[in-house]
Amino acid sequence: RVEADQPYNVHIGIDVFELFSSQYRELLSSADRIVVIADKKVASLHLDSLLQFLQPYEVSVFTAPSGEHAKSIETFMDCHSFLLKEGCSRKSLLLAFGGGATGDVAGFVASTFMRGIPYIQIPTTILAHDSAVGGKTAINHALGKNMIGTFYQPAAVLYNIQFLKTLPQQEVRSGMAEVIKHAFISNEEWLSELLRIHSFNELADDDWMLHLERGIAVKAAIVEEDEFEGGVRKYLNFGHTLAHAIEAYLGYGKITHGEAVALGMAYALLLSGHPRLEEFLAWCQANGYPLEKIQEISFNDVIDYMKKDKKSSKGSLNFVLLQKTGQPYVEAIDEEQAQAAYEQLQLKIR
Ligand code: NAD
Ligand code: ZN
Repeated sequence: RVEADQPYNVHIGIDVFELFSSQYRELLSSADRIVVIADKKVASLHLDSLLQFLQPYEVSVFTAPSGEHAKSIETFMDCHSFLLKEGCSRKSLLLAFGGGATGDVAGFVASTFMRGIPYIQIPTTILAHDSAVGGKTAINHALGKNMIGTFYQPAAVLYNIQFLKTLPQQEVRSGMAEVIKHAFISNEEWLSELLRIHSFNELADDDWMLHLERGIAVKAAIVEEDEFEGGVRKYLNFGHTLAHAIEAYLGYGKITHGEAVALGMAYALLLSGHPRLEEFLAWCQANGYPLEKIQEISFNDVIDYMKKDKKSSKGSLNFVLLQKTGQPYVEAIDEEQAQAAYEQLQLKIR
């Protein structure tokens, strides 16, 4: 359960869709229309398995472009047009079916259609353990990612881990970076367990459940304390200052978000003097994170992007640092120190 402005439950497992006919029956049967906004690729793989559980209800499906392409003003408008043509009203219900991108745009549509209708998140990626919880919705603007959006909590999150089996390796890596981020900012023993993984393929269903549940618990605890990002929610940005800069420099889609976050965490660990940096680099290496990008990208390539970071103020760079696992804090770092650390990381990776 997430205690937000409007509390909601996060369910995770292989049988979560059974809740459509029990716990969420009332929510579904009281809706005058139910619309699924589905990622195109996810729809082609898994829509039938979802619809099977929605048989008692009349459901229409809007297929959105897969992945990040969905987070555009065009898709946003297309969704609204679809809802209007389907005769949706304030009493309609949206289901967001896909990864973080679909969740973000569908959540934004839900928060704006007739000033807000309820929605259920049905995440299908590992990364979405992060994005489906916390109520941030967004689309992108040509001048910046996630620049247009709202805080709007879902009515529920139903996370069926069966769908994770079709995820490409790169997306598994991307999601696992956010999982280990949640461990770094919360719990040393859990972090140790994760650092022992040398291939994500070795994880069984139960392991996935465990790690995703823990990740969701960390995220939920933080957003409960700070729903609108005034304080502790900043800690979730561990690794993200450099990550966002790398994503912007390379161009979105050239590297997955989580892969960039892994590089950003390595950098933040070095800046912090965290004792497990070497171990973390070995983990990244074993699991195929693109560490070589640190070599290919110079400090000058990313510095201006880092200065634009939401956490940074005039003249200084603010990073979430971590000397001890579970104890994040924000610190201003001057540019020379930031550069020296970056070059040191480049040497370590060589
Ligand atoms: P994504 O939604 O872009 O999906 C990645 C790719 O995986 C897409 O090509 C998609 O079609 C495919 N895919 C999804 N599920 C699949 C499955 N089960 N099997 C096979 N392929 C599948 O990526 P993501 O990493 O889930 O989310 C990234 C987005 O999340 C970014 O836009 C980011 O800004 C956003 N995000 C939001 C928050 C938040 O708090 N709202 C937090 C973190 C990230
Ligand atoms: Zn992230």
